[in-house]
Amino acid sequence: MNARILSGRPVAEAILARLANVMEELHRQGQDRQLLIVTATPDPSSASYVRALQRFGAKVGVTVTVADLGPEASAARIRSVLETASADDAIHGIIMQTPLPDGITLAGLGSAIAVEKDVDGANPASLARLLAQEPCFPPATAAAVIELLDHHGIALAGRKATVVGRSLVVGKPLLHLLLNRDATVTIAHSKSVDLPGQTAGSAIVVAAAGRAGLIGPEHVGPGSVVIDVGTNYDDTGALVGDVQADAVGAVAAAMSRVPGGVGTITTALLFRNTVQGLPAEAGPAVPHRAKAALQGACPPG
Ligand code: NAP
Repeated sequence: MNARILSGRPVAEAILARLANVMEELHRQGQDRQLLIVTATPDPSSASYVRALQRFGAKVGVTVTVADLGPEASAARIRSVLETASADDAIHGIIMQTPLPDGITLAGLGSAIAVEKDVDGANPASLARLLAQEPCFPPATAAAVIELLDHHGIALAGRKATVVGRSLVVGKPLLHLLLNRDATVTIAHSKSVDLPGQTAGSAIVVAAAGRAGLIGPEHVGPGSVVIDVGTNYDDTGALVGDVQADAVGAVAAAMSRVPGGVGTITTALLFRNTVQGLPAEAGPAVPHRAKAALQGACPPG
């Protein structure tokens, strides 16, 4: 293994330790923070993720409430729960858990979540704010990639980055987060021709395709920093990423792994967003760099 391992654990631990301190102070002042998770699925991996969020909440002192609407829930019923929670002052963050019942999409429900409580960037308005470099919560997984790179001192400005995957929850928001940090960004997808030709010359390669082992040594170069976002299960049921870890690690300069990379940071950010809330709105006259420096807003350019 040649590559330096970019672990997500210290990043998540640092975020959670800071949050535990903030929550202690808020509790002393008689305040609470509540994260609501709305689910409408019998999916066991979703249930296990929700339990993990509850454990995290207990660790940092944030109340985690689950509204399980069941797999028969209609879009109207789910929207109504999201809208009621959006108007409830006792709730500070809202997550709409996927998968959703057949025929219902996250994009269709997201607008029912108030932008100020949209801690996982599900509301299209949050994405619009990301594009406009206004204070927002980007989808937490995309933001976690930037946290990981920052924590490990990986420079972004002026460097070529290629993101493999163009979903609304990872690839597209990450494109803008990297652009906001002055990277030169390419986005690749299933119709891209010559993927190795796109990625091998990039300083930073982010794999977010959900295809186990898609990224091999031919996709990277000796200076590459490779971030693996993929979560897949192999034949033995083990969690694996999109990157052939050993083969890529023999070539690349640095890489994150699955598990142990982006995933735990994602969870920590959901809680950070719930506790901190959106920063104050920046007015249109605020220059780009000052605006971006607002704590908790889109990572600065
Ligand atoms: P998605 O909606 O299925 O999108 C996958 C993207 O990858 C699509 O844009 C697709 O291209 C592209 N793609 C698929 N096969 C490809 C190939 N052979 N070559 C190049 N591009 C290819 O998935 P997602 O929701 O973005 O998630 C991506 C991965 O991240 C999944 O493994 C997911 O489980 C993981 N994830 C992890 C976390 C976490 O760590 N907490 C959170 C969210 C997601 P087209 O657009 O052309 O179809």
